[in-house]
Amino acid sequence: MKTACLIPTPLLINSRTCHTILSPPAWRQLRSPPLSATKRLLARAPNATTNDGRLLREGIAEFYDESSSLWEDIWGDHMHHGFYSPDSSVSVSDHRASQVRMIEEALRFAAVSEEPTEKPQRVVDVGCGIGGSSRYISRKFGAKCLGITLSPVQAQRANALAAAQGLADQVSFQVADALEQPFPDGQFDLVWSMESGEHMPNKRKFVSELARVAAPGATIIIVTWCHRDLAPSEQSLQQWEKELLNKICNAYFLPAWCSTADYVELLQSLSLQDIKAADWSQYVAPFWPAVIRSALTWNGLTSLLCSGLKTIKGAFAMPLMIEGYKKDLIKFSIITCRKPQ
Ligand code: SAH
Repeated sequence: MKTACLIPTPLLINSRTCHTILSPPAWRQLRSPPLSATKRLLARAPNATTNDGRLLREGIAEFYDESSSLWEDIWGDHMHHGFYSPDSSVSVSDHRASQVRMIEEALRFAAVSEEPTEKPQRVVDVGCGIGGSSRYISRKFGAKCLGITLSPVQAQRANALAAAQGLADQVSFQVADALEQPFPDGQFDLVWSMESGEHMPNKRKFVSELARVAAPGATIIIVTWCHRDLAPSEQSLQQWEKELLNKICNAYFLPAWCSTADYVELLQSLSLQDIKAADWSQYVAPFWPAVIRSALTWNGLTSLLCSGLKTIKGAFAMPLMIEGYKKDLIKFSIITCRKPQ
């Protein structure tokens, strides 16, 4: 069976016409509760340590400064979930191939063209880690990629890897805030955010910046951690759910979470087109158990002990991610759209 058959039919919404091709049950699932996404996101109580912009940025930078080389030693240059599926020719134990597959599946979901005249040429990698996606995408399309991260250690390492791989003319990385990107409007034909959205304290500003730097007709891809969509009767998550997410926030320097439906609503409010979203949680299920197994090896344990407190705290939170997925609270979401021409 081809992989595509296993991927759930995307939830497809054309924001310009408000035309929906969702089946009724799927639409009900995606529909937002009465409070609009923006109001709900603004209404969430700020958390003194993580929602304060400066403290949060510093925490994120230090967390990745401290943990990135350990991650790279064990897992390589992609700091995102692997995409695993039963039909795959990729072995479940080949995590690096699964992480590359995540990039491929995201591009495929967003229908990014490989045709010479249509393929992306200018790409921004928002929350670039050590630049694994940028280098991969640059090679695949021959594109120029600019990456931003809050971590100086990551930016430096990403540039060093690009130089070592002969890509210094094609890709470059700098320290910058995704909420205030150092780029003029309309620069990029592919805007890529792979597992950085969960760190953004202001989701509206985040998606507005993605849309601002996108060129007319550009594709925007957001792959991110979300909480489950709320039922129409719910105003917020349940108390136990909030408590579990808070623990994860404290370990990984995350502000308040939002749902996939919140993202869709935000993108609609910015008049973006061809909005699609899907829950890929089932395809990433083997990931955290694998990370825990790798941390429990001799190499993993010794490296972890030498890495620093933030990284160790992060390691202790890994079972919480598994619990969140198992209890259907955490969703691994892809949301894509196109900026109008
Ligand atoms: N996309 C990369 C890394 C994911 S880790 C990959 O797939 O390998 C999360 C990344 O988001 C880190 O590089 C972190 O520095 C970055 N990040 C988090 N908040 C950010 C912000 N406000 N501005 C820029 N980068 C941010």
